[in-house]
Amino acid sequence: PYAITSACIRCKYMDCVEVCPVDCFYEGENMLVIHPDECIDCGVCEPECPAEAIVADSADGAEQWLALNARLAPLW
Ligand code: SF4
Repeated sequence: PYAITSACIRCKYMDCVEVCPVDCFYEGENMLVIHPDECIDCGVCEPECPAEAIVADSADGAEQWLALNARLAPLW
């Protein structure tokens, strides 16, 4: 799945949310996260993010963001 990093904090540009075909973005107070069990890995959200806050699970350092998204998405 894809994950959202701290570069999202206070961005709230939301174009990523609009393009996601499965509505797997969840919104917290400061940032968005992607639910890893719902993301279908289509990749269309990544180029839409002006903060470059969306990373693929294969990206360097993605593990910590995947863990954060997985922890928060079910809560929001
Ligand atoms: Fe949604 Fe596709 Fe982005 Fe996953 S990769 S969050 S399914 S737009």
